[in-house]
Amino acid sequence: MKRVFLLLLLAAAGTGQTEHISGERIRAHVKYLASDLLEGRGVGARGGDLAAEYIATQFALLGAKPVGDSGTYFQALTLVGAEPQATTGLSASGNGKTTSFRWLDEFVGVTYQQKADVEFDADAVFVGHGITAPEYRWDDYKDVDVRGKVVVLFTGEPPSDDSKFFNGPALTYYGRWTYKYEQAARQGAIGAIIIHTTPTASYGWDVVRSSWGREDQQVKAAPGAPALAFAGWVTKDAGEKIAGALGHSADELLRMADARGFHALPLPLRFHVHAQTKLREIQTRNVVARVEGSDPQLKSEAVIFSAHWDHLGIGPAVDGDAIYNGAADNATGCGVLLEMARAWAALPQKPRRSALFLAVTAEEAGLLGSEYYGQHPVVPAGKTAVAINFDGYVPYGRTSDVRANGAERTTMFSLVEEAARRFGLTLAPDPRPAAGEYYRSDHFSFARIGIPAFTIKSGEDLLGRPPGTGAKLYAEYNSLHYHQPSDEYSDDWDFSGVEVYARFGFLIGMNAANLPSLPTWHAGDEFLNARIASGVH
Ligand SMILES: [Zn+2]
Repeated sequence: MKRVFLLLLLAAAGTGQTEHISGERIRAHVKYLASDLLEGRGVGARGGDLAAEYIATQFALLGAKPVGDSGTYFQALTLVGAEPQATTGLSASGNGKTTSFRWLDEFVGVTYQQKADVEFDADAVFVGHGITAPEYRWDDYKDVDVRGKVVVLFTGEPPSDDSKFFNGPALTYYGRWTYKYEQAARQGAIGAIIIHTTPTASYGWDVVRSSWGREDQQVKAAPGAPALAFAGWVTKDAGEKIAGALGHSADELLRMADARGFHALPLPLRFHVHAQTKLREIQTRNVVARVEGSDPQLKSEAVIFSAHWDHLGIGPAVDGDAIYNGAADNATGCGVLLEMARAWAALPQKPRRSALFLAVTAEEAGLLGSEYYGQHPVVPAGKTAVAINFDGYVPYGRTSDVRANGAERTTMFSLVEEAARRFGLTLAPDPRPAAGEYYRSDHFSFARIGIPAFTIKSGEDLLGRPPGTGAKLYAEYNSLHYHQPSDEYSDDWDFSGVEVYARFGFLIGMNAANLPSLPTWHAGDEFLNARIASGVH
């Protein structure tokens, strides 16, 4: 009898400190942040500034300390909006003839140099997938000098069913187009052109065309920082003209790029690029607060909880509504963040490491606020145990499952499994690992500087509802409301599930803050080198 009682006590202690986290308090934040008054929390807009100010005020009220710029809650950053103009030109000359490509119909692209007018001529090299991955013994840049040249490549990565080779069918960061441009810049290339194919990109040209035909936002670069003068895409048909210079088809080039032992091939072509760009600067802010840890040594280290506060602001009207409220995306994550900060600050006995609560800006424009934090961390990456991100909950009630995809790649996964067990949650797998969702959320900005990081995402198996209901509701949300003005708060929303996810994340964070040593990535993981470089061995 006594023994049973003791066991019950232990079980209660397991989640006890999370019980003050309240879904109804989360609701109150969501209702305000998603109201029309905040005009969709646009970056560089009044509504977004109000949201940031609200979050800072809440941090002050709940007793978390300001750790932003000069004693404030804010980390100010400048973004550069670069809108490519239709007068942008791209042509390739070789064998005595010049081929000009047509803007949007055959190519798109932008300069990362943040200059209004950039013009150059350069030789070209085909670099396959443009990947340097020592852990897979793969280097498309081996024995080739691309400095000052234009690299031509395919996105995606060598196909594989072997989980030890580019993580099998799951996409690694090496496969993402963002990596291609970053690596080309590191290699000293002046430009990079991706030949689009629907299978390698996982989407059609229409998607490339519409997302690259408009303003691109970038974190303002330090003067003189290396950056591609031109980062672009060409259609597969335009790619045939480039491949033709080598006497091959685009498919043949792709097959060569996929094969072990691929070597970069100089192209008998000279590109002419004239990138004309309309530029503007946008001022915005991350909001960051800290609750100090209890251990005199370890309190200089931290766990990070994050959520993006921005959404799309005011945009094209749909059914007469032009305010993109972003209630699920991501007023919910902000509500979770604020409620967790309140509960953490109220803990009678604080965990050993400190906790950082970070509301980042400009996620929708490409994880820019979190990228800026990664470049200007409040606590160094090598002193940060974990970053747990919260994004996009549609409050349909409790689920039997939850997702924390990516956590299994870290040495703290047992904490995640243990926390899931405490809350009776099963950990659902990533439904589409090949889509590379892991690289499209703010936690990725922390992972790339080495911090073990993942986002807690909603499960789909709604308790007390027929099987499949959750999947159906989420599919409906995605097609009807995601990034639409109709992503609006509703009094019908049931925050009991969001409450559980917040408690789950809180418990993981608390246990991570008390770990004897800092967690890291498993051997062979693509982020392990960054972790080691940050000083965690
Ligand atoms: Zn979004």
